[in-house]
Amino acid sequence: MNAAMGAQRKRERKKRILLAYAARFTAVCVCSAVMILIACGFLYILDHLFQNDSVVYGEVVNTSAAGNTDYTEETNKLNIAGGRTVVIDAGHGGDDEGTAYDGVKEKEVVLDIALALKEELEERGFSVLLTRTDDTLYSLLERAEIANQAKADLFLSIHVDYYEDDAAINGLTCHYMQGSAEGTQLASVMEETIRALGVTDVRESIGSDFSVLRNTEMPALLIETGFLSNGGDREKLSQREYRRELAKAIADGAAEIFNEADNQRF
Ligand SMILES: [Zn+2]
Repeated sequence: MNAAMGAQRKRERKKRILLAYAARFTAVCVCSAVMILIACGFLYILDHLFQNDSVVYGEVVNTSAAGNTDYTEETNKLNIAGGRTVVIDAGHGGDDEGTAYDGVKEKEVVLDIALALKEELEERGFSVLLTRTDDTLYSLLERAEIANQAKADLFLSIHVDYYEDDAAINGLTCHYMQGSAEGTQLASVMEETIRALGVTDVRESIGSDFSVLRNTEMPALLIETGFLSNGGDREKLSQREYRRELAKAIADGAAEIFNEADNQRF
């Protein structure tokens, strides 16, 4: 009898010890989990604190391309763009309308051209990023920074011109970074490609010290697509089909720039 009771007590004692260990083990696990969660939260906050505002640029559309490098007979377009990224910057936006005439606003015209240009470049195999896809204003430095962060291969800023002293002045103008030999060559390839397509009159390219040209780390052009101060240009720029034609011509110019570069012509 005593021996049996002793054995039972022993069993109960063993059970209590096991339970105590289990409780302690659970407590340690819960504490560790809580500490890991706190550490993760802390790291997350730190990470966001030190990120500056470099990625808070609102909507940036990134569409990767087919990556095909063949010459396709169906489209008759030279597809040399595999892996190349072009950043398209539609000028102005939001409170900054750019130039305007008779309800035709630069910020709207250039966004439409930029969206069409994105499609045209993607058809040619490029990856495309837009600095803005809606009526939002970004600073000039932010626009350049988007392209720098994306390590883009080409930056194209799209604008519309205005010249109040002479309404007869018309045509498209490519601006390259003042004093840049590479910029001069890029602009001349773009200029000649668009001129050869006959979509619009093309003026001689100009070297300009524009912020987006100065602050981008890759080849960059700013294209003034026409003059709102000129009746003919204004009439054309307010038409969607014309804006698409212009986008096609600029996309051909961009493809030609890479083609020339690949053939070491510059
Ligand atoms: Zn502008």
